[in-house]
Amino acid sequence: MVERQLRRRGIPDDRVLAAMERVPRELFVPDSVRPYAYADDALPIGQGQTISQPFVVATICSLLALDGSERVLDVGTGSGYQAAVLAELAAEVVTIERLQELAETARAALAAAGYPNVEVRVGDGSLGVEERAPFDAIAVAAATPTVPPALYEQLAVGGRIVVPRGSRDGQKLVLVVRTVDGPVEHAVLPVRFVPLLGDEGFGET
Ligand code: SAM
Repeated sequence: MVERQLRRRGIPDDRVLAAMERVPRELFVPDSVRPYAYADDALPIGQGQTISQPFVVATICSLLALDGSERVLDVGTGSGYQAAVLAELAAEVVTIERLQELAETARAALAAAGYPNVEVRVGDGSLGVEERAPFDAIAVAAATPTVPPALYEQLAVGGRIVVPRGSRDGQKLVLVVRTVDGPVEHAVLPVRFVPLLGDEGFGET
């Protein structure tokens, strides 16, 4: 997976490649799709949700440019896989999922894989996790019509947020850096994510 799907496609960051080599992706997928755990695709994890394609996880993690010292917010825990990769790359990860059942499964998988530096929360991640802010980096793993203002506010100055921004049918993965003069944006890649619901996402809960 790392050689064919990531390195050859230009993921530049050796720390990210090494992290993805270490995380046992098979622990984060249901039994029914375990034979495909390392496939070049998103996979169903139940409740109409998906574990993201490895290339997309690697792209998000590379854009966050982590050095190991950061506190990171991961919005849309899903399987917990991206939180595990982030936990390899940063000091501390807070991850938030709106669906209780997925959060519990992710918590168990993260414990089994050995990531004590991840805190799994249940709630509306479009509002962030104010009491744990500021975050040095934020990864959003669900599509949003705009960069949720609460998430930008919870970012430290100099911090980075990566968000799939667009409509329900298609988005651009966008990197936004919070600077003293305001947000600086770079659109990176067309992507297709499930919607971020909640107050500052697509609205419905
Ligand atoms: N990063 C995940 C992984 O590695 O498995 C994949 C995330 S999946 C593509 C998107 C997740 O976002 C779903 O589990 C969905 O329930 C969750 N989600 C959607 N809206 C949310 C919200 N407002 N707050 C928290 N989680 C939300």
